[in-house]
Amino acid sequence: MLHIWCPWCGEHREEEEFHPKGQAHIVRPADPDACSDEEWGDYLFFRDNPRGIHRELWVHAAGCRKFFNVVRHTVSYQILETYRIGEQPKASAGAEVVTLPRRDDSEIETVASDERRQAGGGV
Ligand SMILES: [Zn+2]
Repeated sequence: MLHIWCPWCGEHREEEEFHPKGQAHIVRPADPDACSDEEWGDYLFFRDNPRGIHRELWVHAAGCRKFFNVVRHTVSYQILETYRIGEQPKASAGAEVVTLPRRDDSEIETVASDERRQAGGGV
């Protein structure tokens, strides 16, 4: 069983109290009316699915009911860090990057794409 540190409550609680809510730091387009259908669809539906370090949004559903971010390794399930909404991760900033080939043989670096989204002023 995982014990997750809630940055709002300031203590470790059992994982059953929490729910994952998907990728963190998704930036809403500044002017949704100016988006193409493709840009809006990408914002709504497409998420990174890395093998390795991933930044996720979680909620302490059975506790304080507040949202926060988790830096988690998707293979080992190790939680490297939790932090409040509006903050950036600290210790895991230089964490392992796993590069996976795509179907069209171009490559994508998972952490690099996260940083592009954060540059736009993420959650
Ligand atoms: Zn809490």
